Amino acid sequence: MELKKIRIVACPVCKKMVSYENNPYRPFCSRGCKGVDLIHWSDESYKIAKEEHDDDSGAGHHGQ
Ligand SMILES: [Zn+2]
Repeated sequence: MELKKIRIVACPVCKKMVSYENNPYRPFCSRGCKGVDLIHWSDESYKIAKEEHDDDSGAGHHGQ
């Protein structure tokens, strides 16, 4: 009989201990903390990407 290995990791944002397995936001504890981290590291590239797509989302449905 084997025990399932459950890894516990500390959320990089709030340092809360969370299970790595069965956690869609790993290694974070929640969607909130994952969002905080994303803003941190992709702020610059996100802005650039948004500008590129700005024209597209503004014009909208050209198909009709
Ligand atoms: Zn957290």
